Amino acid sequence: MTTDIPYAEVIGDPIAHSKSPLIHKFWLERLAMEADYRVCHVTPDALPGYIEQRRADPAWRGCNVTIPHKIEILDLVADPGGVRDKIGAMNTIVRQADGSLIGTNTDAAGFLAPIADTDWSKKHAVVIGAGGAARAVLFALKQVGIGEITIIARSGLKATGLLMQASAKGSVLPMDARLPEADLLINASPLGMTGKPPLEIDLDPLPTDALVYDLVYVPLETGLLKAAKQRDLAVIDGLDMLIGQAALAFELFFGATPPVEHDAELKKLLIA
Ligand code: NAP
Repeated sequence: MTTDIPYAEVIGDPIAHSKSPLIHKFWLERLAMEADYRVCHVTPDALPGYIEQRRADPAWRGCNVTIPHKIEILDLVADPGGVRDKIGAMNTIVRQADGSLIGTNTDAAGFLAPIADTDWSKKHAVVIGAGGAARAVLFALKQVGIGEITIIARSGLKATGLLMQASAKGSVLPMDARLPEADLLINASPLGMTGKPPLEIDLDPLPTDALVYDLVYVPLETGLLKAAKQRDLAVIDGLDMLIGQAALAFELFFGATPPVEHDAELKKLLIA
C-alpha cells in the first residue's frame, strides 16, 4: 500500500497477537503526530517480496519483525551495526531516505532494562528456547557479565551454536531435563503463549531468591509466572521488555522520543 502519511508496521506469521500497534499508536496519538503504525501478516515465502515492495514506498519508515522472520531478515537488509555477528537476529528494520534498509535489534536493550541494576557477574541464568529472542537475551546477559548460562531447547545444535556465538560459558539441556539450580530463569520460547502448548517445567530446583522472567506477554500472567508466584519467587513479565524495545524502534521510525510519562496508562491498556 502506498500512502503519503508516514507509517511503520509489525510483520510476522502469526501476527494477530502483536501488541506493537497499540503501543506505537498510543505514542503517536499522545504526541499528536500524523503517522500510522499497522499490522501486516507476512508468511515466510512472502518475506523477500514484502521487503522489496516496501523498500520502494517512501512513506514506509520501517517495520518491527517478529516470529518467524527475525533470522531470515538478516539476508535481506544492510547490517551496519554488525547485528548478525553480535546477536544473529533482527527485530527492527528502518528505511533510510535513499531507500536503503538497515536492520537492528532493540530486544537486547529492552530485555536488559528491568534487570540492569543487579550484579549478574557470578550468577547462573537458564534460558528456555534458542530462537531470535534467546539470541538477544544471550547477548544482553553477556553484556552484563553473566557468570554461566544453561540453555534448555529442543534443538541442541541451535542452542550450542547460540552459546558459541555469544562466547558464553555454559551448557545445553533438552526440553525434558530437570531445571538446574539457577539465579535467573528466562522463558524465551513461545511456550505458555495463548494458542501454544504450556511450558511444563518444575521450578523446585530454583532457590528462594531466584528471579523468573517470562518474555511471553499474551497472557501477561503465564503458567510459568503463576507457578513462580506460588513459590514466592520474584517475577518479571514480558511487558517491560515489550515497551522498552518498542520505544527504541519508535525513535528510529518516527524520530521522536515516546512520552514515558504516560507509561502507566499504556500498561493498563496493554493488560486490558
Ligand atoms: P523464534 O525465533 O520463533 O524462536 C522460538 C524458540 O522457541 C525456538 O528455539 C523454538 O525451537 C522454540 N520453540 C517453539 N515451539 C516450541 C515447542 N513447542 N517446544 C520447544 N521449543 C519450542 O521466536 P522468538 O522471536 O525467539 O520469540 C519467542 C517468544 O518470546 C515469543 O513468545 C515472543 O512473543 C516472545 N518475545 C517477547 C518479547 C517482548 O518484548 N516481551 C520480545 C521478543 C520475543 P526451534 O528452534 O527448534 O524451532
